Amino acid sequence: MIIDFQAHYLPKAYLKIVDATTKIQAKERYAMFSNLVDTSERLEIMDKYGVDTQVIGSFGWPELLDSRTELLVSKASNEELASLAESHRSRFVGLATLPLQSIGDAEDELERAVSDLGLRGIWLPSNIRGKTLDSPMLYPIFERCCKHDVPIFIHPDLAYTFGDRFLAVMEEYSLSYTLGFLYDSSFSVLRFVLSGCFDKYPSLKLVMPHLGGVLPYLAGRIDQGWQRHKSPTKHAPSYYLKMIYVDTVSSFPPAFSCVRELQGSDKIVFGTDYPYWEVEDALRFVRDLQITQEEREKIFFRNSKILLHL
Ligand SMILES: [Zn+2]
Repeated sequence: MIIDFQAHYLPKAYLKIVDATTKIQAKERYAMFSNLVDTSERLEIMDKYGVDTQVIGSFGWPELLDSRTELLVSKASNEELASLAESHRSRFVGLATLPLQSIGDAEDELERAVSDLGLRGIWLPSNIRGKTLDSPMLYPIFERCCKHDVPIFIHPDLAYTFGDRFLAVMEEYSLSYTLGFLYDSSFSVLRFVLSGCFDKYPSLKLVMPHLGGVLPYLAGRIDQGWQRHKSPTKHAPSYYLKMIYVDTVSSFPPAFSCVRELQGSDKIVFGTDYPYWEVEDALRFVRDLQITQEEREKIFFRNSKILLHL
């Protein structure tokens, strides 16, 4: 069995609302990404490569829309994901998009998405208009995720936190794709750790894509920095990094070994970043790893099943 924990989906409802309410002209802008919208093409690829289930999150940056549109888009996207999961049982599992500009609305939508629509977790950008994951405004969201025991998938975003100059530097050579996104998610998750959020919410299930960004590789230096500038945490940062789940969307075996040693194979889930990485390559990467069959099964589906209560 194979469960793909990182798959992008662009809801038709998102395109419709964005087209009707803004000048973004989403249809034209995203016309090139038919494979983000089209379900039959998606199912064909899943069947071709033996992917049983995709965990789908809504593509786009609704937090950059005005708050009213963001609310409309979030609700409509969640309903579309839920109906897709309902009409293709076992093939799709939806993660909720939240209208994060109003945390009250986000809390209500989280409750509705999980309790009424049957979505299995939330998809959170690594920064919300520049606010990182340690922001106290997110505490009510973390509380509700703990209450329902649903995971939070942290998807990298553009590093708005660092301003226009940084974004301009990241424009060239596809640096946003190779480093900028990972830098943003690493920075944000490390702030979550150092601010003591895991002491506050020890049962929270965070899933960080791309083999944990740069955090596993830098864990020693991060612990050393913590000794010098103590943050309000009970343990050294590496203790908390071990609590984070990561996906396999990065294809360098030595980097995987680092993650396996730090987090362990109980915390690694398979992902493809569909449609941005070839499914065949993503599968081959995990199949070729020098690990036991038991570990491969954990990565391909067992860990995801536990996380998503499947
Ligand atoms: Zn992605």
